[in-house]
Formats: sequence, C-alpha cells, structure tokens
Amino acid sequence: MSGNVACSCGYRGPGIADGLSVVCPICRTPAAAVERAYRIPCPNGHVLKARDEWLGREMVCPTCNEPFVLRATDSLEYRKEQKLRQDAADARQAQVWLKRAIFAGVIVVLSFVVMVVLSMNPQWFQPKS
Ligand SMILES: [Zn+2]
Ligand SMILES: [Zn+2]
Repeated sequence: MSGNVACSCGYRGPGIADGLSVVCPICRTPAAAVERAYRIPCPNGHVLKARDEWLGREMVCPTCNEPFVLRATDSLEYRKEQKLRQDAADARQAQVWLKRAIFAGVIVVLSFVVMVVLSMNPQWFQPKS
C-alpha cells in the first residue's frame, strides 16, 4: 500500500512506491503523504477531525466536554461508504424482485393464454364416444 499523496503539481490521489519513498505518478517527484483523516461525531453530534493514529482512543469533545471513543466505524466516511454499499445492495435486491415480478407476469400471461385456448376448444374436454 503506497497511500495517498498531495503533490506540488496539484495531483492528489494514490501515490506510487519508488524504492523507499512514495512519488507522484504524474511528475515522479517524492510527494508528501496525506494523512487519512476521519470525521467522527461526538455523542452530541459535534464533528471532530481525527487522525488515523487516534482511532481507538478516548477523546473529550472540545465543544461539550463529552468523553467518547474514536471509532472508524462511527466516522462520517465509514457511514457514507456503508450507505453506498447499502444502496448498491438495495439496487441489486430491486433487480432480483423485478426479475421475479417479470417471471410472475409471464406465468400469469401464459396461464391466461392456456385458459383462453382451452375455453375456445371445449371439445378437448368432451369424452370421446
Ligand atoms: Zn506531481
Ligand atoms: Zn460534543
């Protein structure tokens, strides 16, 4: 993992490893790594910016003095990601239901056609004599 970089050329994004340093993929100069920050709300909803290495530690909210533990799973980034994942799962689920609905519709139409054909041919049910 090379991590994200912020380069003086304006590039921001994943860097590429070059030996021991991480360089900008555009201009190939060593670029500063961007620390991954999380925005984590306190129990009262004040959003704090937390750095990677603070995760798992207890913090006191500077606004309301409420102590709470910084968890990546509480961060806005994580929730956003979860929501996107959930939306994608919902979309897939909707597709499944749509296919089932179409299948059910086809069955209904087919049985209707069969009934119409049978009712137009009542002689099929007459005992042959
Ligand atoms: Zn660059
Ligand atoms: Zn707070």
